[in-house]
Amino acid sequence: MHNVVIAGSGPAGLTAAIYTARANFAPLLLEGSQAGGQLTLTTDVENYPGFPDGIMGPQLIQDMRAQAERFGTIFRAVDMTGADLHSRPFHLTLNDEETIQTKTLIIATGATANPLGLPSEARLLGHGVSTCATCDGFFFRGQPLIVVGGGDSALEEAIFLTKFASHVLIVHRRDTLRASKIMQDRAMKNEKISFQWNAVVDDILGDEVVSGVRLRDVRTSETKNVDCKGVFIAIGHTPNTALFRGQLELDSNGYIQTTHGTVTSVAGVFASGDVQDPHYRQAITAAGSGCMAALDAERFLENAG
Ligand code: NAP
Repeated sequence: MHNVVIAGSGPAGLTAAIYTARANFAPLLLEGSQAGGQLTLTTDVENYPGFPDGIMGPQLIQDMRAQAERFGTIFRAVDMTGADLHSRPFHLTLNDEETIQTKTLIIATGATANPLGLPSEARLLGHGVSTCATCDGFFFRGQPLIVVGGGDSALEEAIFLTKFASHVLIVHRRDTLRASKIMQDRAMKNEKISFQWNAVVDDILGDEVVSGVRLRDVRTSETKNVDCKGVFIAIGHTPNTALFRGQLELDSNGYIQTTHGTVTSVAGVFASGDVQDPHYRQAITAAGSGCMAALDAERFLENAG
């Protein structure tokens, strides 16, 4: 029987591990088959406090992992494939073959940026293709950029990117935006932003780094190439919560609902990081909420006797 099981190995999960390990709860951390989360998909991280010269995303994760290991975290490179949260202790299934029991569960399974699904997008991810303007916008000073999507995220990313870019072209598959009126007004007023309506990205061009995109008009199927140095995909995120549907309260977009920090609708289950945060989605906020989940779990265990 485990005291604390943490599902997810991004900054939220690893910070929860550091704290619960230092509190002598010997947490078990399920790293999943894609260990490290979204930070492993970025290159330089320049906005994580404490690193004045920046740090590579994978290095930051590796360092957090080493810190968690030093205090006694047990790591297992397995996926949680099932979870029964109806009664305590909770029963978790690992890799479809093994069941373990735990008194508390910290869910830090993150969210996945929805991809366009192009081979070139996967190949150039981190080399001009990005899903996070806050993380990568700085690297595109004076460059023309493309943002794909028509929701609040796309417009927010585009507006943020105008701080750096020479120009931002928003490519949207319809001629009406999904974004809120206030964001539409802001984007429309911004002189550095223009729109390409009724278009989708057919291909992202470039061998080593992005050099442009091929756009296709969805009405006529005509294609044209547009030069750009970066492509920001902002077509929504999917929180990794499929296992918890029907067991935990989720919002209409599938994010775990939390109250008082990281407390979920099931006592003893805590959620931290992007899996419960559609708004901030930063490494530092995920780490902060991982700390909160650890403290909440520790308090729960102490009160449970
Ligand atoms: P969203 O509202 O679901 O918008 C996704 C956008 O991507 C839509 O315009 C959609 O087009 C487009 N899209 C989806 N799949 C596509 C594909 N395969 N190819 C091309 N385009 C595709 O997602 P979001 O913008 O990430 O926002 C998620 C939630 O967070 C929303 O509730 C939003 O209001 C909220 N949010 C709020 C703020 C804020 O208030 N500042 C900031 C960010 C997010 P269609 O319109 O044609 O479906």
